[in-house]
Amino acid sequence: MHKLNNDYLEDAVEDSMPFAAQGEVNTSLPDLDGTKKDLLGVTILTTDQQKFTGGNWEQTVPMQSTSKIISLMLALHDFGKDRVFQAVGMEPMGDFFNSISQLESYDTSKPFNPMINAGAIAVSALIKGHNNNNRFERYLHFLQRVTDNQELHLNEQVYEAEKANGARNRALAYFMESVGTLITDVEEALDLYFRINSVMMNCDDFAKVGLFLARGGRAPDNDEKLIPANHLRTVNAIMMTSGMYNSSGRHAVEVGFPCKSGVSGSIIGVVPGLMGIGIVGPAIDEKGNSTAGGALLRKLSQDLELNLFGDG
Ligand code: GLN
Repeated sequence: MHKLNNDYLEDAVEDSMPFAAQGEVNTSLPDLDGTKKDLLGVTILTTDQQKFTGGNWEQTVPMQSTSKIISLMLALHDFGKDRVFQAVGMEPMGDFFNSISQLESYDTSKPFNPMINAGAIAVSALIKGHNNNNRFERYLHFLQRVTDNQELHLNEQVYEAEKANGARNRALAYFMESVGTLITDVEEALDLYFRINSVMMNCDDFAKVGLFLARGGRAPDNDEKLIPANHLRTVNAIMMTSGMYNSSGRHAVEVGFPCKSGVSGSIIGVVPGLMGIGIVGPAIDEKGNSTAGGALLRKLSQDLELNLFGDG
């Protein structure tokens, strides 16, 4: 087993970097500084309060689909498990994250799971608030507490791009309205979804979310329990089965702990009881996962013996 320290992590980033060549940067996102192909960063935060970093860990990128675990936590908090899973399923889906055809195939009244676009739009519609500004403020406030970073904010350029490129998500949302899954205002649900995708974070912030899930849902500043154990278990289990979209099976075999990816190349990893991992590697494969980030996770899992299903 390798020893976890900054030198090891720098070497692991260097070894994984060539895998960026197998991916492409998402073209629907604005050309921000963070969307360079040959970039890879990682932060690891351990439950015994150590921090390790490697590569371009300071680079911020939009949360994109990593936001889906935050909305799920808020919806579970606001409405409880029974109501949330009336609107969305718990099953992995073997198709692309924005699939339209799969919306009809599992259960006509709901999408497969909260980690795909349709599922996350349905879940966002369950975040309480008296208007959309207030719902987004609640989202951001929760995220700021979890990451202990009051500076987190929405990037207007990303938000405008989400709206401009949102045809597919609109189609998913209006379909869900037509079958009665979305009972709130569709445009509001979409607008909230677009906003929560557009918050900028770096590897430290992504790792803090992972650490939050790894250490019992406790606030980093005062240890207050923000999420009860049963909701944490639900979120971690759904990340494990669906967090890497239609690569989740391979990911379970080769990495073996819950992760959530976003098309910005971001990944949040959770090793329960041990550590949170934040990765940014903007080159993604056709399924929407960071190619260099995936290689790095496989290496970390192997070298540090992190696979929950056993090592070797
Ligand atoms: N903004 C992207 C979308 O809604 C987020 C999806 C993702 O990260 N996979 O299509």
